[in-house]
Amino acid sequence: MLLYPDAPLEEGHDFPSREQFTVAEREGGKGKAVYTNTGHARGELIARFTGLIVPYRTQHSLQLNPNLHVLDLYFAGYLAHSCAPNVYVDMQEFEVWALEDIPPDSLLTMDYASTEDELYAQFHCLCGAANCRGWIAGRKERVNGEGLFYLADRLEEAG
Ligand SMILES: [Zn+2]
Repeated sequence: MLLYPDAPLEEGHDFPSREQFTVAEREGGKGKAVYTNTGHARGELIARFTGLIVPYRTQHSLQLNPNLHVLDLYFAGYLAHSCAPNVYVDMQEFEVWALEDIPPDSLLTMDYASTEDELYAQFHCLCGAANCRGWIAGRKERVNGEGLFYLADRLEEAG
């Protein structure tokens, strides 16, 4: 059964199914996220996604171009962020690809700055990656005031 409940989509076109993925609340009140049930090999097409094309950004939209965004409240819109992501989201083809071998029951993560010029809301990242940027903004926007304070504190701590 596809994750898109009401969409008139045919089976067999790589749209995500309930058997392959679980969209569930993360621990720690971080909101919903997408988990793979089956796991994936590096370089594999994980799934195609779809959604409503809307002229505004939301917390769960992905940027198609500076004026249009794809709102997918069943799959891609709930991919979690990591500074060391395990998936790549192709906004030309609406495809999600595995960047590494991903074991079953893993959280799927993308880099939000790879698709968004600006974020709906910048945030303090707790992804735990060795290369974590600490504060996440879109690829074409400046770090906001809160982020500058956060990063300055972190520099001080690092000595
Ligand atoms: Zn991070």
